Amino acid sequence: MASWRLAKSIQRLRDEIESVHRGTTFWTIGDEAHQSTWSDHNPSECCDVVCAGDVKGNGGLNLPNFVNHLITNPHPNLRYVIYNRKIYQRKNGWRTENYSGRNAHADHVHVSVGNGPDGRSTSNYDSTASWGIADISSNPPPKPSVPASNWTQEVIMALPTLRKGAKGADVGRLQGLLVANGYKDSAIDHIF
Ligand SMILES: [Zn+2]
Repeated sequence: MASWRLAKSIQRLRDEIESVHRGTTFWTIGDEAHQSTWSDHNPSECCDVVCAGDVKGNGGLNLPNFVNHLITNPHPNLRYVIYNRKIYQRKNGWRTENYSGRNAHADHVHVSVGNGPDGRSTSNYDSTASWGIADISSNPPPKPSVPASNWTQEVIMALPTLRKGAKGADVGRLQGLLVANGYKDSAIDHIF
């Protein structure tokens, strides 16, 4: 390899992350895990452009939030993202898919740009549009609300009206639900 350069979109991503989360490890070329195979971390076959970055959370970037941001506000050049045994691809509408590669990507996020297969990616990969990294910490994604479990509702619907002083299996079922839902003071003694 004579000379190579980084895709401008990856360069922009690295600069944005560095400006918000100084000291973040950002691999582009030379990561030993990628050297032996076709990879966007190697200069592309046609143009000697490196089309991928590996981002760690050691500068304070929250990686799950980062991934969520990437796939909900995809940069125009973004092709796919890998993190924690999952891959999210533009061609598949960014849906969550299992990633079974040798490297689980548990401690870093892999970002690839451009079009075409790894190591042979072609443009567009030189968009200098913002990746919106500064928005991630100011707008963390909302925590998904935990839906009431169906079985809880089903059991409650099946119970008769229970009044103080009632005894028996139905009281026990209700007490079991209370305990299962975190009311630790409730004993399951089948007595209301
Ligand atoms: Zn990578």
